[in-house]
Amino acid sequence: MAWFRKAQYRMLPTPSVESRVPDGLCAKCPRCGVIHLTRDYHENLRVCSKCQHHDKLTVQERMKQTLDPKTFVETNADLAPADPLHFVDIIPYSERILKYQRQTGMKDAVVTGHGEIKGVEVSLAFMNFAFVAASMGSVVGEKITRAFEYSLEHRIPTVVFCTSGGARMQEGILSLMQMAKTSALVGCLKDAKLPYINVLTDPTTAGVMASFASLGDLTIAEPSALIGFAGPRVIEQTIRQVLPKGFQRSEFVQDHGFVDMIVPRKKMRDTLGSVLAMLTHRAPVEVVSEQG
Ligand SMILES: [Zn+2]
Repeated sequence: MAWFRKAQYRMLPTPSVESRVPDGLCAKCPRCGVIHLTRDYHENLRVCSKCQHHDKLTVQERMKQTLDPKTFVETNADLAPADPLHFVDIIPYSERILKYQRQTGMKDAVVTGHGEIKGVEVSLAFMNFAFVAASMGSVVGEKITRAFEYSLEHRIPTVVFCTSGGARMQEGILSLMQMAKTSALVGCLKDAKLPYINVLTDPTTAGVMASFASLGDLTIAEPSALIGFAGPRVIEQTIRQVLPKGFQRSEFVQDHGFVDMIVPRKKMRDTLGSVLAMLTHRAPVEVVSEQG
């Protein structure tokens, strides 16, 4: 065993406690890879100061940035998905749901309720991509529908922050029927002359995009968000053509008449406040959000 005792490799010194980087101190931009101090990144609302990429937010972060403090009241928080098809992919759907519930602290991929933006009362929905890619199953569809119904009942506008990878295939037709259900309610809002604003964030695609996310009276998008039905890779493989640069990003979609405004995150609250005040014939109220 002489070879084992022979010093073939020189051990690197263990870094001192002071020189170790604490967990969570830095955050990496998922687009350009630049490293930011987490504190600065959060102060900049998770927008990369180098490439202006708008990173995904949690529902709580989105609320803090958008709403008047202490005005949000959550509704239908207890609605949780069932597993009507007893669907098994690699793991059973019911187990997958439990895992996401533990990870996010949410029952499903959307939080709904009502609150105020610059003093204007609105019905609200916030989708969370971290929960099964914010796919729309029966609970997401039902909660969005009830948010629209709340708007109808109280005659207030609706604002939905959209993000989604599509329909929740594990719920089969029960998932797909949510597209028709939510779209029908948007029709009711239009009949009642109640404004509906949808804010498209990265990414908003597939079944959600083909239903309530594309039916707003005003469609706002965050910069450079992926917006479309099928993703660019699927389209390229289907039509066997190279797609143009920036295809399906907010700016491209706006150029083609599908998005009304592109609003950077820092200006989102002010923009929504002004638009809502205009639509409800009131003067905007100067209220500072929790995030300034
Ligand atoms: Zn970046």
